[in-house]
Amino acid sequence: RPNRAGWKRVLLKLSGEAFAGAEPLGIDPAVVQHVAEGVAEAVRVGVQVAVVCGGGNMFRGAALAERGMDRARADYMGMIGTVINCLALQDFLEKIGLDTRVQTAITMSQVAEPYIPRRAIRHLEKGRVVIFGAGLGQPFFSTDTTAAQRALEIGADAVLKATQVDGVYDADPRKNPDAVKFDRLDYAEVLQRGLKVMDATAISLCMDNALPIVVFDLMGQGNIVRAVRGEKIGTLVTQ
Ligand code: UDP
Repeated sequence: RPNRAGWKRVLLKLSGEAFAGAEPLGIDPAVVQHVAEGVAEAVRVGVQVAVVCGGGNMFRGAALAERGMDRARADYMGMIGTVINCLALQDFLEKIGLDTRVQTAITMSQVAEPYIPRRAIRHLEKGRVVIFGAGLGQPFFSTDTTAAQRALEIGADAVLKATQVDGVYDADPRKNPDAVKFDRLDYAEVLQRGLKVMDATAISLCMDNALPIVVFDLMGQGNIVRAVRGEKIGTLVTQ
């Protein structure tokens, strides 16, 4: 894989929580507009951008299961929730003139294409933004794991995980003012220290395939294009 400055195709992972922004539930249009502008900037500098949307602003299967629901069914609700975020992002991207396709792992042909990896790659080559929804289509997985898997399958150079904090810290920076941010980490350290980068399944997948991860703050002005261009931002996780 090329080093950070030479990335040609990236997978941007957007957490569901980010979509909610200041809203108690659902989608904050200001956030989606911000994301769309960032993605547009990235596409304009010539990098191919695929996106995986999370769904934490809608439903998390594990949380519903704790309150008595069947875990698998709750996970399907979670996956369907991610598609709502995908459609919102698609709308804002198209309003600012980008070509987009949504592909879902659970077929819903009225609103999106099914997930077809080779087709996704063709879309990216034509400069379209491909947005992956419905996770992997399988309960007991996360959209972080989806991001790692999709990145590998479409041949992306890195996973860019956009979050609410500006990188990975040794403690929660919102609770502990002395928390120290890492500029770089290796996969083993992330797993050993239980650092909150992505879940262990996702990290293992990246580690086994030497797929770099960048964790960065979604809302900072110009952050998406900086991450996409491989500039020093957030925390880089590699071997
Ligand atoms: N989910 C799933 N399989 C997948 C991806 C997601 O079952 O492959 C479900 C799971 O219930 C999860 C929910 O969809 O809690 C929303 O995704 P996630 O929690 O990863 O969203 P994020 O944390 O990024 O907002």
